[in-house]
Formats: sequence, C-alpha cells, structure tokens
Amino acid sequence: MIYPTALVTGGSRGIGKAIVQQLFEQGYNVAINYFRSETCAVELAAALNKHSLGNKAIAICADVSNASQVEIMFEETKKHLGTVSLLVNNTGISQQKLFTDITEAEWDTMFAVNIKSMFLCCRQALTDMIHNKNGKIINISSMWGQVGASCEVHYSASKAGIIGMTKTGAKELGKRGITVNAVAPGFIDTDMTAALTETAKNAALGSIPMGRMGTPENVAKAVAFLAGEDAGYITGQVLAVDGGMSM
Ligand code: NAP
Repeated sequence: MIYPTALVTGGSRGIGKAIVQQLFEQGYNVAINYFRSETCAVELAAALNKHSLGNKAIAICADVSNASQVEIMFEETKKHLGTVSLLVNNTGISQQKLFTDITEAEWDTMFAVNIKSMFLCCRQALTDMIHNKNGKIINISSMWGQVGASCEVHYSASKAGIIGMTKTGAKELGKRGITVNAVAPGFIDTDMTAALTETAKNAALGSIPMGRMGTPENVAKAVAFLAGEDAGYITGQVLAVDGGMSM
C-alpha cells in the first residue's frame, strides 16, 4: 500500500502535534518538523510508529526560517517517506509588546519564523507538486491576522500576510492541481496561550461566544477536512476555528 506524505512544520508541540496525530491516523506518512523540542518530536514519532498499520512518522530538525535547513528537511523527507503531497505550515511564534517597544530585530524574527518560513517551505514543496499536478498546502494563520491584536502588531501583521500568501498561492497554483488554504485559530489551549497573563486570558475568554478555549484537536480536524477529498474544490479560503470569536 502507498501512503501519501505530509510534512507538518512545528509538529513537536501544541496545534502542530495534534495535526500530526490526526493526519497519521488518517493514513499519511508524516514528517514531524521540530526546532528546539527534539525529545517531544522523537517520542511522538516513536509512539505513532508503534501502533502503525503501515505508514511511518519521522522527526526532522530544521529552523524553518533558514533556507538551507528547509532544503535539507525536504530532501530527508523525500528520502525516507517519499514526495510531500500535503504541506502544513504550522510553525509560529508570538510576543506581546507595545507597538513602540518592539525592536527591529523582534520584528524581523517574527516575520522570518511566521511567514518567510512558509515561503521557503512552499518553494521546496512546489517543485514536486507542480510536476505531479497534485498537492495541498494549508497555512496556519490566526484570527488576529484578520481583526488585529492590540500589543501584537508584528504577530498580527505576519498572520495577515499569511492570508495574502494563501490567496495568491490559490490563484497561481489552482490550474496546477494544487489547493492552498488557511486555518485561522482563535484562542487555543497550548504553550503559546499558557504564556499569557491571567488578565489577558480572562479578556480573551470573555469575548468567545462559545465561552471556552479551543483545543489543538479542534484545529487539527479543520486541517484534516481541508486536506481531504471532501474539500477538493475549496481553495484560497480562510477557515476560522475560534468559537465565534472573530465574528
Ligand atoms: P506552540 O505551542 O508555541 O508551538 C509552536 C511550534 O512552533 C513548536 O512546535 C515549535 O517547535 C515550532 N517552532 C517555533 N520556532 C520554530 C522554528 N524556527 N523552526 C521550526 N519550528 C519552530 O504554538 P501553538 O499554539 O501550537 O501554535 C501553532 C500555530 O498556530 C502558530 O502558527 C500560531 O501562531 C498559530 N495560532 C495559535 C493560536 C493559539 O491560541 N494557540 C491562535 C492562533 C494561531 P520546537 O518547540 O521544536 O522549537
């Protein structure tokens, strides 16, 4: 049996980990990209392989904001799992700071990790996807890229840029058999939101119509839908997974 191959960036923890688990369960070979959390990624791959029905998971280290590391990551994935037909650009960092306190270096790091990384990964994946006239790209944006978050101008702007990149990709690649979509999570229970102050958490919770945080699995299910056959004619869209928070 031939299993399709997915690469998930930032798959070691949080939303990325849930996406890895969901896709593996659905029969994908999965390349789990990590940067600093080696143990988490290696243990995740081992746990998945232990109960596999034939598909495989591997952990691959790469700083996805670095072009040569991204190139090697795709070479390794192809060597061990085959050509990537599903790319999930999930990696992201956040920071809460006043507009006027953000340094140039912080702005550059935010854009390098959150959006340049997506360009670098798409560029690598697209060579084979275009050749095969088949591929799906799913970018993890954020509701803050649509509505703007106070004290997160660099984060919000990078997430808005991802939406622009998604729509551009959909227009340019549609005739090549490739769909490009984005998922925009709201307030999801991960290490990223655990780092917020209690005041910020309570303010966010108070503005969610469904009255609770989302889970990484809620986001993973949306990604799995966009990756599946049922979403075959959907491209250039931004699917909100936010309990109604962005309405
Ligand atoms: P998280 O728990 O902080 O996990 C971040 C992931 O990104 C980790 O797996 C981390 O890997 C990886 N990463 C960071 N820098 C990297 C780099 N340079 N190269 C490769 N991987 C890197 O975050 P999360 O909450 O799961 O967020 C996942 C995505 O959802 C992000 O794009 C985030 O902006 C978006 N999002 C989250 C929320 C939320 O409420 N949580 C809301 C909206 C959007 P290592 O640990 O291995 O370094």
